[in-house]
Amino acid sequence: MVHDIPRKLVNGTPAVARPGPVDTSRPGELGTGVDFVPKTDQEIRLVAEGYKKYAFNQYVSDMISVHRTLQDYRDQSCREKEYFQPLPTTSIIIVFHNEALSALLRTVYSVLENSPAELLQEVLLVDDFSSYKNLKSELEVELSQVSSLVRLLRTKRREGLIRARLLGARHATGQVLTFLDSHCECMPGWMEPLLERIAHDHTIVASPILDYIDLSTFKYNFYITEGVPRGGFYWTNMNFCWSQVPQYEWNRRTSPSDPIRTPTIAGGIFSIHKEYFEHIKTYDTYMEIWGGENLDLSFKVWQCGGSLEILPCSHVGHVFRGSVPYNYTVPEGVNVVIKNTMRMAEVWMDEYRDIYYRRQKRTKMVRSPL
Ligand code: UDP
Ligand code: MN
Repeated sequence: MVHDIPRKLVNGTPAVARPGPVDTSRPGELGTGVDFVPKTDQEIRLVAEGYKKYAFNQYVSDMISVHRTLQDYRDQSCREKEYFQPLPTTSIIIVFHNEALSALLRTVYSVLENSPAELLQEVLLVDDFSSYKNLKSELEVELSQVSSLVRLLRTKRREGLIRARLLGARHATGQVLTFLDSHCECMPGWMEPLLERIAHDHTIVASPILDYIDLSTFKYNFYITEGVPRGGFYWTNMNFCWSQVPQYEWNRRTSPSDPIRTPTIAGGIFSIHKEYFEHIKTYDTYMEIWGGENLDLSFKVWQCGGSLEILPCSHVGHVFRGSVPYNYTVPEGVNVVIKNTMRMAEVWMDEYRDIYYRRQKRTKMVRSPL
């Protein structure tokens, strides 16, 4: 007779306890927005400077606690779901270039305070050659008081997010790599669904639902599953776009926690098994700064036996920006997004790349040298 071996529940105790009780009178607490109207000349100047440097309201970000808590709006079935060991451990990799210190620290604390200690291997921060002063010793002092789980790496030159993430991946000792942007906030329970799915199948690239944090008020806007979009792309520039989840995908699912299959991912926030990431030869290291790597990874995964999924019980907020605050014409004069995208098209799209080139021409986007 075969006896069932009792399964061990994942212990949800977070890696780091948040300090003290939640003070709901603090601005932005529970994910609310801060409608700050600058009045004095100095406030007006500081708010404008913040937008210029970071393309979001840094002044408001600084007002909000780096430990702020979020209202947990997840479906009841998600909140009650139990997760069992063994699950893989994960290294969190957060790359940043000239990020606002408060946004960066909030990202780090939200990981530490919302991830089970037994699943979180480490948090690797990769500074991609930032020039802002407070990201030097001030950041180091701050981090030295946080947790030994957090390590700071710095690139020796501006590498761009693709090679910066790879530096983090090389140092990672967890079984799964989880990438986050440097202006995110994780919901309680965000990590378990991603790791459970990857434990089930190492070739699944798992993404949370990306909630959006308002760039001016820092309000955390929660997506209910029924309204969530999945990934797509524009043929004209082969950039990522959000697209409606088709009815057949809703019909295929039987429970609110079932994954949503997606053709592409936005690219900033996802988990991937380290061995699978290495099996598909990681990223294209000739891609510069930003862009193209998300479709490159998506197409590569599909063509190398894997798949991409959004896990509705996992939520991470991201500050979506309308403009790019940093310089991205490196190396000099090259449109890095077009260059990266053309590399992706040449490698993964076969004859379909011609559709892209034709439409690109029609929209008067010039072919830049690879
Ligand atoms: N980043 C980086 N080096 C760069 C450009 C971007 O490390 O040369 C980081 C950036 O700080 C952020 C992540 O890569 O954490 C993604 O960039 P961004 O948030 O600007 O992209 P978006 O989310 O707007 O697509
Ligand atoms: Mn971002």
